[in-house]
Order: sequence, then C-alpha cells, then structure tokens
Amino acid sequence: MIPSILPTYTRAPLHFVKGEGSWLIDRDGRRFLDLGAGIAVNALGHANPDLVAALTEQAGMLWHTSNLYPIERQQALADRLVDLTFADTAFFTNSGTEACELAIKMARKYWSAKGEPERTTILTFEGAFHGRSSAAIAAAGSAKMTDGFGPLLPGFVHLPFGAPEAFAEAMQDPTVGAVMIEPIQGEGGIRAVPEDFLRAIRAACDATGALLILDEVQCGMGRTGRLFAHEWAGIDPDIMMVAKGIGGGFPLGALLATEAAASGMTAGTHGSTYGGNPLGCAVGLAVVERIGTPEFLDEVSRKAGRMRQGLEALVGAHPDVFEEVRGVGLILGLKCRVPNARLVQAGYDEDLLIVPAADNVIRLLPALNIPDEDIAEGLARLDRAAARIEAAPDA
Ligand SMILES: *Cc1c(COP(=O)(O)O)cnc(C)c1O
Repeated sequence: MIPSILPTYTRAPLHFVKGEGSWLIDRDGRRFLDLGAGIAVNALGHANPDLVAALTEQAGMLWHTSNLYPIERQQALADRLVDLTFADTAFFTNSGTEACELAIKMARKYWSAKGEPERTTILTFEGAFHGRSSAAIAAAGSAKMTDGFGPLLPGFVHLPFGAPEAFAEAMQDPTVGAVMIEPIQGEGGIRAVPEDFLRAIRAACDATGALLILDEVQCGMGRTGRLFAHEWAGIDPDIMMVAKGIGGGFPLGALLATEAAASGMTAGTHGSTYGGNPLGCAVGLAVVERIGTPEFLDEVSRKAGRMRQGLEALVGAHPDVFEEVRGVGLILGLKCRVPNARLVQAGYDEDLLIVPAADNVIRLLPALNIPDEDIAEGLARLDRAAARIEAAPDA
C-alpha cells in the first residue's frame, strides 16, 4: 500500500521536535549537532530569536494580501537587495526552483522582446542542480532527475563541468541566449567553478550579449563569507537566483536582475500568489539585515577558517576515509574514499547531522552564526564518525 506521504524521499528515522541554534532535539530528548542546517536553509540557526520576533510580529498583523496590492515589507526587502547587489530589480518566489523557472522565462523573453527570438539556447553544466520543476530538470539534464519525465523542455545544452574549451566552442552557436551556472555546485558535490573560468564566462557573455544567470540558491546569502559567491571573482551576473538561506527556514526565494535583463518582463508576464507575501518578507528582511553587514560576513570567514583547518586535519588523520576538503566559506565538502552514506550513518551514530552530495561527498553547511565551540564539537564528532568506519572497514 502506498504510504500516505508520496514515497519520493528516503528519510532517516530521526524525529525532531525542537531546534536551538545549531542543535536539533528529537522526541526522546537526544541532541544532534546540525551541520546541515536543513540543506543551507537555517542560515541563522534554529529558532533564532530575531527571526522568531520578525515572524510573530508580522503574524499578528497581516499574513497575506496577494500581489494585487503593494506589500510594504516586500518593497523594503527588494530595496535592500538592490542596495546590496548588482541588481536593479527583484521578484519574490517561494522556492529556489521557482526563481530558476523565472530566470529561464526572463532570458527567453529578453531575446524575444529584442527581436531575436531564435536565441533560446541556454548553456548549463553537468552536475548542476536548479530544482525539480519540468524546466529545472531539463536545465540540469541528469538522467536521475529526467528519466521518465519527457518530453523535456527543449533549448538546453549541457556542457562538461570545468571544461573551458567546450564552453568556448558552445558559445559559437548564434542561438545561445544565456549561460546558467552555480558558482559552487551544491548537490553536485561542492564543486567550485574556478574564479578565472567564471570571469571567462562573463567575458564570453559580454562578447555575444548572452545573459549570465547565476544560481546562488545554495552558495549565496553569506555562505562563502561574501554576500554572494560571485563577488569573489569580481564579476556580476545579469540574473541571479536566491532562496534557501534568505528565508532562514521560511519558504522564500528571489530572482534578482539588472534592468536590461528584466526588460521583457512587463505587467502580466509573470506572477505568484504567495511570492513575496508579508510573512515571508518580514523574515527575509530580518535575515538580510543580519547577514548583509561586513561584520557578519567577516565572522563567517573567520569561522570558516577554523572549520576548514579542522577538516584538513581530519583528512590527514583519516586518509582511508577522506580524500580532500572542498568548498569556500561555510559551504564545505569532504570527498570520501568510503561510500558517503556510511559517513552520514556514522554521523547519526555520533549525534551529528551531515548531508550527502553527488560525487561521493558529504556536505557541511552549518548555520552561518554557529558558535566556535559547536564547530569544535562538530569536528570532534566527525573525527569519531571516521574512527567508527576505520574500526569496521568492511561493514
Ligand atoms: C536547492 C536548490 C535549488 C532548488 O531550490 P528549492 O527551494 O528546493 O526549489 C535550486 N538551485 C540550487 C543551486 C539549489 O541548491
């Protein structure tokens, strides 16, 4: 008999009832150190008092009005994001997938409005993840996500990851209208695009007029120690998707764009019932106010330095378990020499939550404000998890 929840998830049998900062407490009172933060979502930890206050204050005033009317908090959040980034304009969504969906629509509309409707091709990269809608799985293209769901939305060309020559060649196609890429692949295994390749992509887009679309749903919102990961490369996108951390656990996403890139999106061309509603934007504003300061971002980098140093030491101490450390800031990965699922399980056995990714990697995506003592505790638990595997190598 089919379960009452559609069985598309494989879940660990952990029953959490409460969260506090970097800790999750299950129904038996067992405390787990959470280095996954709901897959980079709980950017300020669980039950953050500022976010609880922002949410409950708004909840007592106004939840939802629809986008038929101006929404004060939505306007304030848009203004703040425009101040802090390359963008001239923002559209709010409930998820990363919806932001990616709009990015694809916006790129196509841009070219059709410019009188070059043939420029529908969007270059994407192997190992990418842009969400689970029909357009997003077509964009990423992996068989695991697309099998059986055809016919797929056409117009995507999937390029190998980290192959500048293949990219340069693909850009010769005159129908290319946009390039869509995660500066650091999250689901794909914490694979960072080298900064010089990101700059080369920007230059190639400038040369042909193609739009550069960056998916910062996982790597953005302060996770790398800059507000957005692309800032490290000194480039700006034309369009960028944001979600996960921006809501701190409330479902919120955003599409940010330059005025030029957004020029095709006139009244009536797109919409969302819930997107940008007062509750979500009240929380988003509180998150952005906290994360979008140089002091906070410097702290992320400092904590990331501690974490990275500890992880490098773990790789040295457990060379049969770990191969290398990957990532930037607090979007970190450990490439494993044993199946990553074993590490995740050994983590559970140590009351530690870590997240698997493709390419046999485990991800560490802690709250950006994780206290130093929790970093140390997490490293100690990871060390013990690795020791469990060494003690039972063939388990
Ligand atoms: C999670 C993720 C998405 C999809 O976001 P949802 O909120 O799950 O729809 C898209 N792109 C990237 C890079 C992601 O990590």
